[in-house]
Amino acid sequence: MRKQLAIILAAVGILCGCQQKKTCEKQAFQYNVDKFYDLEILRYDVPEFESLTLQQKSLLYCLSEAALWGRDILFDQNGRYNLRIRRALEALYLNYPYEKDTEEFAAFERYLKRVWFSNGIHHHYSEDKFLPEFDQAWFVAACEAAGIEYDAAILPVMFDPAVMPKRMTAQDGIDLVANSAGNYYGEGVTQKEAEAWYAAHKDNSSEPLWIGLNSQLVKRNGKIEERTYKVGGLYGEALEQVVYWLKEAQKYAENDQQREVIGKMIAFNETGDLQLFNEYCIAWVKDLDSRVDFVNGFTETYSDPLGITGTWESMVNFKDLAATKRTQLISDNAQWFEDHSTTDPKYKKEEVKGVTAKVITAAILAGDCYPATPIGINLPNANWIRKEYGSKSVTIDNLMHAYNEAAKGNGFNEEFMIDDEIRDIYEKYGAMCGDLHTDLHECVGHGSGKLMPGVSKDALKEHASTIEEARADLFGLYYLADPKLVELGLLPNMEAYKAGYYQQMMNGLMTQLVRIEPGKDIEEAHMRNRQLIANWCYAHANGEMEIIERDGKHYLQINDYEGVRRLYGELLAEIQRITSEGDYPAAKEMVETYAVKVNQDLHKEILARYEKLHLAPYKGFVNPVYQVERNTDGEITNVTLDFTEGYIEQHLRYSKDYSPLPSVN
Ligand code: ZN
Repeated sequence: MRKQLAIILAAVGILCGCQQKKTCEKQAFQYNVDKFYDLEILRYDVPEFESLTLQQKSLLYCLSEAALWGRDILFDQNGRYNLRIRRALEALYLNYPYEKDTEEFAAFERYLKRVWFSNGIHHHYSEDKFLPEFDQAWFVAACEAAGIEYDAAILPVMFDPAVMPKRMTAQDGIDLVANSAGNYYGEGVTQKEAEAWYAAHKDNSSEPLWIGLNSQLVKRNGKIEERTYKVGGLYGEALEQVVYWLKEAQKYAENDQQREVIGKMIAFNETGDLQLFNEYCIAWVKDLDSRVDFVNGFTETYSDPLGITGTWESMVNFKDLAATKRTQLISDNAQWFEDHSTTDPKYKKEEVKGVTAKVITAAILAGDCYPATPIGINLPNANWIRKEYGSKSVTIDNLMHAYNEAAKGNGFNEEFMIDDEIRDIYEKYGAMCGDLHTDLHECVGHGSGKLMPGVSKDALKEHASTIEEARADLFGLYYLADPKLVELGLLPNMEAYKAGYYQQMMNGLMTQLVRIEPGKDIEEAHMRNRQLIANWCYAHANGEMEIIERDGKHYLQINDYEGVRRLYGELLAEIQRITSEGDYPAAKEMVETYAVKVNQDLHKEILARYEKLHLAPYKGFVNPVYQVERNTDGEITNVTLDFTEGYIEQHLRYSKDYSPLPSVN
């Protein structure tokens, strides 16, 4: 429930959930690590790590070990030849007997880096197989010279474009299982057979087991059989290690609830019993007090063409107290914000309650969260558990922060912002405004206002989400320029908000178009809402802003920031009226006039300018290295983090130290 890719958003500087932290001033921190093909490798910081107790640090360390031990599982789930291929490539890389300063070796290294990034031989996002830029003869000869033995079956899998071309296919009318290289189904299993098996085993009770979540279906003697992922079963060698470290982690649990969560996950891995998985999910949702939290196991089901089996992933994290405090402060003032907004008093809530957003710091990424990673977690996936027990939804601040820091100096702002003055302001306050805007949007924006008696929640029909997102965004934008934020200590001065205003207008009018293909309309609700706001304000402006042309390029110029605030306020009042009255015709008119259509000439220009920047659209991370000190009794006495490991070193180390599975599973 969370395949949000921050990658593209961050590349264009749109989304910014991170905060200005002290770590920004640590000049030494290197966010950019490596770049190849369409991929960029970044490093993330782990701020506030020092504020954790030794017990919490020890817990993080053990959970991070449990995370890293699952790495092979994902390679094998992504394709049954992946471990064989990865091991042959790594062996050759380490034992290459010739001069390395050649085109072929460089191409070979790039391919290996890509295999690591994708946890296999298919692109992590497009799911297409990527081909080496060196040829098979070169590879075979080099392996022979180096004395590397490998299974010859990997050759067509690596080099023949027709063999296993797609990790997962979603094409209508063909056998999705037979035509997907993913290893959720054994050789020879058809979609029909898999579906029939699932249908026969489906649990129709009110608290159903997620049959198939943790297993592979294979064909033996013409019959479908289930191979369960568990200790002693499929992937048992890896899960044994995971269990060992979960048991270590359990010793450092912060409280009984967390001890239960870890215990259920251990028992589930040991037995494969899905009832225990349900109990784990429920215990996990209830654990709200622990500072440290984690996901470790077969979780998201996007990579199974039938959407049933979970892909192994792990993310260990802890609560970001600074950000949580910030959202608390905003939420404590929810009534003040409600009372002072530009909306008609009759649409205001007499009693409004703010929401406190949960913000976390990622401490280790693994499996399907590594190197490419989601920016939020929204689990568990079982609907009945969400309904009965709730769910946890969090944003991961330090990863957003890394995206933003890494984007600095990539030329984007130089290309699209009009002058040094606004670039300087943006450099100083952009991230801060991005955070605050997100907080205002989430903590008070959505919760503000009320519907008139008799108006249905669904009155705005297909335009409801665009209008609702615009309402929350405008609420945030209006208050971004309010002295109240300076008074609360959330912004340092009355200039900072300009960074947020310029960014919103530039993005909504121009730069978000880099994510739209030429000739297409805007479909996605958040993108629609951003363009709606920017276009409406631009159309109603009277000198507050203009778009000027310089050397054939268009730029936004804001002449009167307070005037822009007035426009935001006016639109907020109207959008609130539309919402409160359930005025569908007005919503439709608003969306169709301002939110959907793209200015074709401007779009072409923006795409051409963006293209020239050569920004890698996909990003991933290296992890910090956890180092522990122990006393003579083996007890952990200290845990420290090291942030110097490179991309290649990290993967070689993981393959050496955390690779328990056989090549064929
Ligand atoms: Zn929203």
